[in-house]
Amino acid sequence: MTFKAFAVKKACADLVEFEYLPIPLKDDEVEIDIECCGVCHSDLHQACDDWGSAHFPLVPGHEIVGYVVSKGKNVSCIDIGARVGVGPQTGSCKSCDVCLKGQAQHCASKIKSYNTPTGDKDQPFTYGGFSNRIRVNAEWAFSIPDALDSIACAPLLCAGVTTWMPFARHKLPKGSRVGIIGIGGLGHVALQFSHHLGYHTIAISSSSNKREEAKEFGATEFLDTSSSGVMDDFKGSLDFILCTVSASIDWSAYLRLLKAEGTFCLVGLPSEVKFTPGLVVTQSLNFCGSYLASPLEIKRMLEFCAIHSIKAKTESMQMNAFNVNLALKKIKDNSPRYRVVLVNPSQ
Ligand code: NAP
Ligand code: ZN
Ligand code: ZN
Repeated sequence: MTFKAFAVKKACADLVEFEYLPIPLKDDEVEIDIECCGVCHSDLHQACDDWGSAHFPLVPGHEIVGYVVSKGKNVSCIDIGARVGVGPQTGSCKSCDVCLKGQAQHCASKIKSYNTPTGDKDQPFTYGGFSNRIRVNAEWAFSIPDALDSIACAPLLCAGVTTWMPFARHKLPKGSRVGIIGIGGLGHVALQFSHHLGYHTIAISSSSNKREEAKEFGATEFLDTSSSGVMDDFKGSLDFILCTVSASIDWSAYLRLLKAEGTFCLVGLPSEVKFTPGLVVTQSLNFCGSYLASPLEIKRMLEFCAIHSIKAKTESMQMNAFNVNLALKKIKDNSPRYRVVLVNPSQ
C-alpha cells in the first residue's frame, strides 16, 4: 500500500501530491494513521533549502498526532489504537556517549522524521507528516495524555519540545525575569511554559498587535520592539532570554536586555548571528543554544501541558495540496496565530 503525502520536488517549489511505497514495517516500528500535523518554520527553512541540507523530494511535517494502526513484533510499549505524537526526531544510535546519557537529541547518527537517508530504493529518505501515514520507531512515538486535544497538542511535538528543554536544562529559580523573543509558533508556547514555571515573563515582539494574546499566554509585560526607546526601558533587566526568531536581528541590542551573568539561549535558526564580543565579555553573559529535547523531557513536557492545560493556539485547515502551500506562505508572512495545523479528512 502506498502512502499519500505532499512533497517539495526542488528548493522553494510548491508542494505537490506525492505517493510513495514505504519501507516494510520493521520489528521495532509502529505505523501511524496521521490525524493532523502542525507546520513549523523549520518546514519552510527545509523546503527552501535554507540550511543547504535538503534532499528532494522532501515531505515536511514533524508535529504529528495520529493513531497506531499496526506494529512490529518487538513493540510492547504501545498498543494498536493508541493516540501518539511524533516530533522532529525518530531515532538515534542508542550506543554513543550522548545516547547513553539520555541526550539522544545530540546523537550524531540521529534519524529525523524527514530528510534522513534510508538506503532504500522506494523510499530513499524518511518522509514526514504531510501525509496520511508514517512509520517510525516505537520509542519515538509518544503517548498523548487524554486531557490534550489532538490539534492543540500537535505543535507541542516540536514547538513545545524545543522551548521546554531550555527551561528543563537551566532550572531557573522561581521569579526569574525571563524574556521570550518572537511570539510565533515556538514563542507562544514558551510564554505558557515560562508563566506556569513561575517566572516573571516578558514577551518581546516586533508585532504590536500580539500584545493582548501574549498576556493571555502568560506574559506579565510586553516589549514592543517596533516602538522607539522601549528597549532602553528594559536594559539590564532580564535573567534569561529565549530567542525563537527565525531571522537575523540586532543581536547586541537584545543582549543589552540581560543582567550581568544573564543567559541568552538561541533556539531560532537564522542564517547568521553577529554581536559585539565586548558586551558578552564585560557583562559575563552566557550565549548558548538548545536543540529539541531528550525523550524523557518530551514525556515530562506532555505531562506538564496536560496538568496546566497548556495548548497551542491553532488555525486548522484540511491537509490538501492548496492548504499545505498556503500554510508555508502564512509562515513566510508571519501571519499564523499562532500555529497552522493540517488535518487529514477522517476516513
Ligand atoms: P514562527 O512561527 O515563524 O515564529 C517566529 C517569530 O519570530 C515570528 O512570529 C516573529 O515574532 C519573529 N520574527 C520573525 N521574523 C522576524 C524579524 N525579521 N525580526 C524580528 N522578529 C521576527 O517560527 P517558529 O516555528 O516558531 O520557529 C522559529 C525558529 O525556530 C525557526 O528558525 C525554526 O527553524 C527554529 N526551530 C528550532 C528548533 C530547535 O530545536 N532549536 C526547533 C524548531 C524550530 P513577532 O511577530 O512576535 O516578532
Ligand atoms: Zn519544528
Ligand atoms: Zn547516539
